[in-house]
Amino acid sequence: MAGLAAAVRARELGADVVVREKGDRPGGSMRLSSCVVWRYREWEIFRAECPGGDPALQRAVWEGLDDALAWLESLGAPVVARETGNPRTTGLRFDPAGLTDVLVRRAGEVRLGEPLRELPDGVPTILATGGFQGDPELVRRYVTPEPLVLRANPWSAGDGLRLAQARGAALSAGMEEFYGRNLAAAPRIEPGDFVALAQVYARHAAVENIRGERFAARHWADVDVVQWTARQPGARAWYVVPDEALGEPVRERTVGELVEAARAAGAPVERVDGATRVEVVAAITTTLGGIRVDVRGRAADGMWVAGADAGGVSTGGWSSALAAALVLGRVAAEDALGYAA
Ligand SMILES: Cc1cc2nc3c(=O)[nH]c(=O)nc-3n(C[C@H](O)[C@H](O)[C@H](O)COP(=O)(O)OP(=O)(O)OC[C@H]3O[C@@H](n4cnc5c(N)ncnc54)[C@H](O)[C@@H]3O)c2cc1C
Repeated sequence: MAGLAAAVRARELGADVVVREKGDRPGGSMRLSSCVVWRYREWEIFRAECPGGDPALQRAVWEGLDDALAWLESLGAPVVARETGNPRTTGLRFDPAGLTDVLVRRAGEVRLGEPLRELPDGVPTILATGGFQGDPELVRRYVTPEPLVLRANPWSAGDGLRLAQARGAALSAGMEEFYGRNLAAAPRIEPGDFVALAQVYARHAAVENIRGERFAARHWADVDVVQWTARQPGARAWYVVPDEALGEPVRERTVGELVEAARAAGAPVERVDGATRVEVVAAITTTLGGIRVDVRGRAADGMWVAGADAGGVSTGGWSSALAAALVLGRVAAEDALGYAA
């Protein structure tokens, strides 16, 4: 998202742009996502939900999102819903394939299969490689020694982090934090399963690790449960679901339907003491820590960083990574071309 948004904005402002894309298709994880681009309705709620983030950076994303969404729509990006499904948030849901196509058509030259390996001398560069969740070594170093399932594109492997650090950029807070989902522990998990196998009903279950130790937290959401699971043996846990919870609605499905999806995919699902137990495995979608940037996306001389490569927006919780990527990608392009805020 961030790189394409930056490229489209830079071209609008008259720049010649080359997008270097490591993958064999454009769109990165945005293309795989549910594509809900959102913000908290209230600024105070954003701060309370993500208390470890950089307030100035958060404010820039929060204040910039509505204009950025209107811009995406003006480009012809296909909106599939005008609600996020969460009354505390506001935003738009796009068709990810359609959004990718719209951006690619306007991004100028997009060179597929051409990873950026070093920063070009004297050319303003916006790094937007999508975080470091795709590099098991970096995940081990910063996040957890346990092996996580990758729930993202395979190419976002910390290239931006390394390039920016080599240029002297600093790291943000919260390098150990990530956003992800606990997925049904099926023997095979393909990108098409990333949404279908997500077990997003932890609040209706007891959550315990293989030793029977339970997750207990003061304030929690699915993002807290997956971060806890990631630190348990094998990055695995069991959800123990009482029968009365099986009919509870979760998004467009029920808890029972999510459990059946897990069983159908071959994940361990057992009946024990009158409850259903489902084995889950922690999957990483996006790292939340990364390069420290200012509100214009600046990370070092001649270098801007946007999207999941930039840390410090969601620290301590979760906010829309697509929103941050969209807003900061656009702002970085403007700043790189000398346009003031
Ligand atoms: C199943 C799923 C559902 C999701 N749902 C949502 C949602 O509803 N709302 C939300 O806000 N977020 C959601 N996300 C998260 C969101 O998609 C990502 O956090 C977001 O795409 C990050 O934007 P980005 O621009 O940083 O990275 P990406 O969109 O992944 O783009 C990064 C690009 O950089 C490329 N790249 C990597 N290394 C190099 C290199 N060295 N040179 C050149 N190119 C390189 C990658 O191939 C990729 O194309 C979801 C993710 C998944 C997987």
